[in-house]
Amino acid sequence: MTENTNGQWRLRTRPHGMVKESDFELVREPIPELEEGQVHVRNHYLAFEPAMRGWLDDVPSYLPPVGIGEVMRASTVGKVIASKHSGFEVGETVSGMLGWQEHAIVEGDPGPMGGLSRVPAGVPPQIMLGALGVTGLTAYFGMTEVGGVKEGDKVLVSGAAGATGSVAAQIAKRRGASKVVGIAGGPEKCAWLTEKAGLDAAIDYKSEDVHSRLGEEFPDGVDLFFDNVGGPILDDALQNMAWFGRVVLCGGISGYNEEQLPPGPRHYMQIVIRRLTVKGFILLDHIARAGEAMGELSGWIKNGEIDYAEDVQEGFENAPSTLLRLYQGKNLGKQLLKIID
Ligand code: NAP
Repeated sequence: MTENTNGQWRLRTRPHGMVKESDFELVREPIPELEEGQVHVRNHYLAFEPAMRGWLDDVPSYLPPVGIGEVMRASTVGKVIASKHSGFEVGETVSGMLGWQEHAIVEGDPGPMGGLSRVPAGVPPQIMLGALGVTGLTAYFGMTEVGGVKEGDKVLVSGAAGATGSVAAQIAKRRGASKVVGIAGGPEKCAWLTEKAGLDAAIDYKSEDVHSRLGEEFPDGVDLFFDNVGGPILDDALQNMAWFGRVVLCGGISGYNEEQLPPGPRHYMQIVIRRLTVKGFILLDHIARAGEAMGELSGWIKNGEIDYAEDVQEGFENAPSTLLRLYQGKNLGKQLLKIID
């Protein structure tokens, strides 16, 4: 980075199948002059979401696709280094959808992608990208509002050592679930789930037979399944649900990079036979109540009742390779990239 230029990672080509580093290009250009109403933010951390893969496809979705040549969309936290908006002062820490770039010149008033939010004092700023940000809020509304977790529920979470799954599983515990089991890839993640996050058991889908382990852990079936991955794990879970069980479809990362979409759940009829309720949701529908969720989540985190993990990579040049970590299962907890101290 030179003083007056901005590094930006822009979408170069639309990926087919697995996203590649070469689908993005690093461009440098002068930082434009600040206009009235605008704020100049120096990004410190970039956040990575599996959904980014979907934003690269030119198909209708809950957000428009990122255009070729556009800065890659991402949530960030950073510091205000100049302001021509009365609502923001130099030195404040803020978060927003500012993208894969070192500097962002943004309107201080909220736009279609939301606005800048002030990071409250006394919290590590990057928590606003994870446990108190998109993934924490998704876990909260998915588990409480959509899943309706209640006292005595036996709960299963897939993608359980990830940013969303790890918080969702612990919320189930806090809300009185009698048993919470997580599915994750590898012994290190499974150990974290039982030793740090306090889950009752963890299933390593990379080395264990998920279907038979579910039968052992849930002899009377799963009351509530919070699914982040879809694919074969969803099929295994459908065959192990309790009668009238609930399935929350949060995401389906196992299929995000497939060139040909795999056939739908093979055990679809279990939804009928077991009279399951299956609900999909998108966080945006609940965002108006973010304050309420952040209040409860921050209380749990402060009291040590919810543990959260962050995987912090470093160096702006590593943005594309950091995104790939999500699909390679390399992250434990929230995937972040620190681009400046
Ligand atoms: P994350 O769970 O922190 O990271 C992704 C994890 O997915 C990886 O660490 C990996 O863990 C697992 N994974 C990767 N490929 C897989 C595969 N083929 N099969 C099974 N697991 C695989 O990511 P996150 O940001 O918290 O997102 C989790 C899910 O929530 C995603 O599906 C995302 O799209 C969804 N989400 C939905 C909303 C919404 O509004 N509905 C909002 C945010 C996120 P392992 O090592 O355990 O495989």
